[in-house]
Formats: sequence, structure tokens, C-alpha cells
Amino acid sequence: MPAANTRFRLGVDLGGTKIEILALDAQGGERFRQRVATPQGDYDATLRAIATLVQNAESALGGSGTVGIGTPGSISRATGLLRGSNSVCMNGKPIQRDLERVIGRAVRITNDANCFALSEASDGAGRGAAVVFGVILGTGVGGGIVVGGRILDGPNAIAGEWGHNPLPWPRDDERPGAPCFCGHDGCIETFLSGPGLERDHRLVAGETLTTHAIVERATQGDAACAASLARYEERLARALAHVMNILDPDAIVLGGGLSNIDALYVDVPNLWGEWVFSDRVDTRLLKHVHGDASGVRGAAWLWPIASQN
Ligand SMILES: [Zn+2]
Repeated sequence: MPAANTRFRLGVDLGGTKIEILALDAQGGERFRQRVATPQGDYDATLRAIATLVQNAESALGGSGTVGIGTPGSISRATGLLRGSNSVCMNGKPIQRDLERVIGRAVRITNDANCFALSEASDGAGRGAAVVFGVILGTGVGGGIVVGGRILDGPNAIAGEWGHNPLPWPRDDERPGAPCFCGHDGCIETFLSGPGLERDHRLVAGETLTTHAIVERATQGDAACAASLARYEERLARALAHVMNILDPDAIVLGGGLSNIDALYVDVPNLWGEWVFSDRVDTRLLKHVHGDASGVRGAAWLWPIASQN
């Protein structure tokens, strides 16, 4: 019979600049947290750094836990190799298999947007909702879908990746849209990311401001900034309505830097009804609870609490 103190879950957030580990107990409480810099450009050193963090957590807590990993990119189901990570030394590597070797147990791994959605669906803003669409609005735009407490992971491992769909119901002045790094023009990400808002403001208002400055000046009554924020909200409403017409989630939880704009949670639900194919909309638009911690928390939630036997 395992001792009570072995019943914890380890979540690892593997990012381009830092690696963080978090241990959650059976009640979802934090028991251990540590952060180190990501070894730059060195895949083997990155694996060792993760193994050391796991060791440190287990020495501190006395026992062994399950290990979940969240990281940008996704693992190809066909090849088992990571792709699309912004830490390019990780791409093309069988990271799951290698981590299982160095840590000595099965690990679960998924992308950071899925971790965000799982964290918020498990004990965050979307707790209790059957279907949660988690959205990251930051430097990039991504998302993840959680159904009944589990990440919806399709055969291509891309469920929820809406940022590289085109902006729906485009107006004439929105076509073809800005080129996106993915090779297409006018992706949702080119409108709804922080750089997208800044670009739009630069094009329309003729001034170069940071996202933070645009939002702050809008709240202070600057007309041009308020107009840019209004365009942003209307585009977000359209982009979310498009998802709602397919998925009809109970809750949409926003994360990433732009999710801290409080006006979104009032204004966007007032707008999205125009495009949602329903006479009324009961979907809740919610601000994240765990914020930056959702990466490690969601990674930990990748494993259920082990039943005591
Ligand atoms: Zn794109």
C-alpha cells in the first residue's frame, strides 16, 4: 500500500527560457515548486535538467509521483517526434521516449495551450463545466479543448489550434490580412495576438504603441486607442462565435497577456450573439484563475490521482 505522501503529481512546464516543476497533492494543493533556466540549445542538458527537478521534488516530498510535461509544440503521432516548438533544439527529438528513459517511468506530454485548458477546467475558472475551450491570447494565439476533464486530442494532435484559421466573417479591409509565419495571410493570430493589436493600431491610428499602452490609454479615454480596442473585441467576438458554432462549449476561459483586459468579459459576450447561430447564448466567457501557473498545473493534471490500493 503506498504511503499517503506518495500520492502527488508532478507537472513540468518546459519553456524556452525556464523549466518549472510543481507538485500537487491529492487535493490540488501545491507542495513543491522549483524553477531553473532552460539550457540553451542543448537537448541532452534539457533532459537532465528535467530529471534533476523530478529528483529534487521527490527528495523533498519523500516518495514518487506521476510526471506530466507541458511544452510548446506537439508530438507527431506518426513519428513520436516533437514539432513546432519555439525551442528549436527540441524539434525532431523523441522527447517523450527520452524523458521516460532518464526519469525511469511513463510520462505524459502535451502542449502548453492544452495544459492551460486542463488546468482551468480542473480547478480553475472552468471548474465544473463539461466542455471548456481554453484560449491563449498572447504573443501568439492558441487554444485547447477539455471535455469531461480530459484534453480532446485528435488524430493530428491539433484540437483547439484555432490561431491559424482565418479570421471569420472578414470585412473588405481585413482581406487578405497580414502574412503569418505559418505561410497564410489573415490568420486569427495576426489580429488577436499582442503584436496583431499593435500592428492594427499602427495601421489605423498611425502610432506605434505597445499593447499595454493601447489598453491603458483606451481606459483613459484616448479615442484612437479605444477604437483599436473596440476593433479587437469585435474580432475576438467573431473568432469565438465561429468556435461556438462548432463546439458549443459551456465555458471559454481566456489566458495570456491580453486576457487581463477586464473589458473583454463584458463587451465580447455583448457582441458575439450576432454570429452565434442561436437565439440566445449561455456560454460563459471567463478570465483565468491560475494565470502563469496553468502550464505546470495542467501538466500535473495530465495524470489522475492514483487510487489507493
Ligand atoms: Zn498562421
